[in-house]
Amino acid sequence: MYKIAVIPGDGIGKEVMEATLHVLDALEIEFDYTFADAGDECKAVSGVPLPEETIDIVKESQACLFGAAGESAADVIVRLRQELELYVNLRPVKSYPGTKALFDNLDFVIVRENTEDLYIGLEEETEEGATALRVTTRNAVERICKFAFDYADENCRNKVTAVHKANVLKKTDGLFKDIFYKVAEDYKDIETDDRYVDATAMFFITNPQMFNVIVTTNLFGDILSDEGAGLVGGLGLIPSANIGENSGLFEPVHGSAPDIAGKNIANPSAMILSAVMMLDYLKEHGAARTVENALVEVLSEGKVVTGDIGGNASTMEMASEIRRKIEEK
Ligand code: ATP
Ligand code: MG
Repeated sequence: MYKIAVIPGDGIGKEVMEATLHVLDALEIEFDYTFADAGDECKAVSGVPLPEETIDIVKESQACLFGAAGESAADVIVRLRQELELYVNLRPVKSYPGTKALFDNLDFVIVRENTEDLYIGLEEETEEGATALRVTTRNAVERICKFAFDYADENCRNKVTAVHKANVLKKTDGLFKDIFYKVAEDYKDIETDDRYVDATAMFFITNPQMFNVIVTTNLFGDILSDEGAGLVGGLGLIPSANIGENSGLFEPVHGSAPDIAGKNIANPSAMILSAVMMLDYLKEHGAARTVENALVEVLSEGKVVTGDIGGNASTMEMASEIRRKIEEK
C-alpha cells in the first residue's frame, strides 16, 4: 500500500488526473490517495495557491501526482521543490509509435540538477548593466551524479554522459566534470563520457540515439529538456519527475491548457507516463511496464486516441482503452 498525494490542480490537470487514476485502478497495487489543492482555483477560494495543508499532505506521502496549476504554476512548483528538497528534475526523451516524434527508437533520460547554478536568483544591477551569479557546490554535484548513476543502474541503462561547458566555465563546470568522473569510479559497469553542451545540442538533432542517460547542470538541463521534448513532439505526451531524498513529484510537462479545459479532449498520455515514472520510482517496475505497454498498444493502433495525435477519442475514452488493455492481460 503506497501513500500518494494527488493534486489535480487547474484546467486539464483535473481531467488527465481522473483519467490516470482510472488507469492505475486496473493494477494489482493498492494506493492510498490523499487529494490536495493547489493552483489558481485554490488561490481564488483560499487566498493562497499552495496551502500549508497541501505541503503537509505531500510531505507525509511517498510520492505526489501533480496535474497542472495555471498562472501560479511557478510559485507552486518552486515552493514544493524547496520544501521537499526535490533536487533532481528527470525528463525522459522517448519516442512512441503513432506520435509526431522526429526519430524512431529514441529512449534517453535527462537528469537535471535543480537547486543551483545560474538559477539561484542572485542577480544584481551594476553600473554597466547587470550580473548573475553561477553557483556550483561539491555536495550538489556529487548528489546529482550519484543519482544519475543509481538511476542508470536501477533502470538497466549502461551509459551516463555528463554535459557541461568546462572549456569556458573552467571553475564551475570544471568541478562538475571532475566530480562526475570521481563518482563514476563506484559504478564500474556503467560506461561514461562527457560532452560540451553546444555539441550536445547539435547531436540532439543529428544523432540523438547516441544518448542513454545525460546528467547536467540546471540551466543546460532546462534548455536540453525542451529540445528533447521537441524531438518527441507534442506537449500531450511528455512526463517529468522531480525527485528528492524522501519524495518524488510526478507531473506532465504541459500546463492547465485553458483553451481546451473542460472539454474532455486533453491527451492523458503525459499524466499517465508521469504515473509510470512514479511506479518506477516506487520500484514497481513490472507495473510501470504494464501501464506503459498498454499505452504503447493504444498509440500504435491509433484508433482510440485524442485529437492532438490524430484521433477523435475523448480523454476518458482513451484512458478506458488503456485500462482495457491492462485488464486483458
Ligand atoms: P499554463 O499557463 O497552465 O501553462 P498554457 O496555456 O501555457 O497553460 P499548456 O498546457 O502549457 O497551456 O499547453 C499549451 C498548448 O498545448 C495548449 O493550449 C493546448 O492546446 C496544447 N496542449 C497542452 N497539453 C495538452 C494535452 N494534454 N492534450 C492536448 N493538447 C495539449
Ligand atoms: Mg504553458
